Amino acid sequence: MDTQRQHRLSRQRKVILQELCKVDTHPTADEVYDMVRRIIPRISLGTVYRNLELLCSQGLAQKVGQAGGQKRFDGAPQPHAHLRCRLCSRVVDVDYPEALPALPEALAKGFEVSACTLEFVGICPRCKAQMS
Ligand SMILES: [Zn+2]
Ligand SMILES: [Zn+2]
Repeated sequence: MDTQRQHRLSRQRKVILQELCKVDTHPTADEVYDMVRRIIPRISLGTVYRNLELLCSQGLAQKVGQAGGQKRFDGAPQPHAHLRCRLCSRVVDVDYPEALPALPEALAKGFEVSACTLEFVGICPRCKAQMS
């Protein structure tokens, strides 16, 4: 890879992270793509997706809500819990007062555990209001 291309990639990645950190809505890759496109009009969805994955593997961002439907991305790298609505699938941060639960070593099956994701699933107030 030539240096000019490397430079372009790192700028793209920076913009993607910057846009992701501006919101707390845990956007999908498509939504991040729409935000980033306003700044880099010619960027492709594939590039956005690859860079999001890379940012997650570098620990600069994280994926949430994988258990239910579309993958969502979170610009907050520190561990925190989430609430997910099973009807509209929006994801909201939880200021969990306690440290996230740790897995006793006896149950870890030899894994060196470095993180724990905690997701509470239910129906959000907006959806609940629509039901009544
Ligand atoms: Zn909802
Ligand atoms: Zn979050």
